[in-house]
Amino acid sequence: MIYLKTDEEIELLRASNMLVSKTLAEVAKFIEPGVTTLRLDTIAEEYIRSNGAIPAFKGYGGFPNTLCTSVNDQVVHGIPSDYALQEGDIISVDCGVVLNGFVGDSAYTFAVGEISAEKKRLCDFTRESLEEGVRQAIAGKRVGDIGWAVQTKAESGGYSVVRTLVGHGLGRHMHESPEVPNYGRRGTGIRMNKGLVICIEPMINMGVKQTRTLNDGWTVITADGKPSAHYEYAVAVREGKADVLTTFEFINEVLQKR
Ligand code: MG
Ligand code: MG
Repeated sequence: MIYLKTDEEIELLRASNMLVSKTLAEVAKFIEPGVTTLRLDTIAEEYIRSNGAIPAFKGYGGFPNTLCTSVNDQVVHGIPSDYALQEGDIISVDCGVVLNGFVGDSAYTFAVGEISAEKKRLCDFTRESLEEGVRQAIAGKRVGDIGWAVQTKAESGGYSVVRTLVGHGLGRHMHESPEVPNYGRRGTGIRMNKGLVICIEPMINMGVKQTRTLNDGWTVITADGKPSAHYEYAVAVREGKADVLTTFEFINEVLQKR
């Protein structure tokens, strides 16, 4: 069952996703060598609650924390811990909130200090693949058009697309229909109508596409131990254009001050 949103509901989703955008920027201020991922989690939780929202991930399916923090070869769903970030790490920070009954969900991969040119290129291609996917999120197009665009961009850089996890519809629930794969063929999948709100979230690997899950039951890592990057936007499908409900501008402001 796919729920199309009214304009009023989209504005509520915009507010939720704007809070996530600001939370990720707040976390960005503290990302440096030596900070633990658990400290980042505390910063995010306090920021979310002080803005009248609740963390969407905490308790979701038993997940213990506010953020998913996934370092280097961790693809997604990393659990915050006493691991202290090291110079040269990349860390995907995924954050969800519930504000006024609507969910915001976004992710960004940060560099810790100076990172290798290889990791920088992976992050750049992953972010660009997200942008390519967003350009397809238009009324009348199909979900497969998004996956095709993401996959084409990622593979043009020599990277592989994770298949085991996908994007999703977003609304009062964090994971609504439809699934939004980051791979696919043009003109396939369900047709997207005005009012559909989805999260597009490419998970792109430097090496093989295969993944496995650690014994903690959550952390997804690459099968070959090579790095992975992840960015996520919430997007409302409109006639003729995609309406991105997330912004990385707050993050950019923080990173430019460094
Ligand atoms: Mg998501
Ligand atoms: Mg997310």
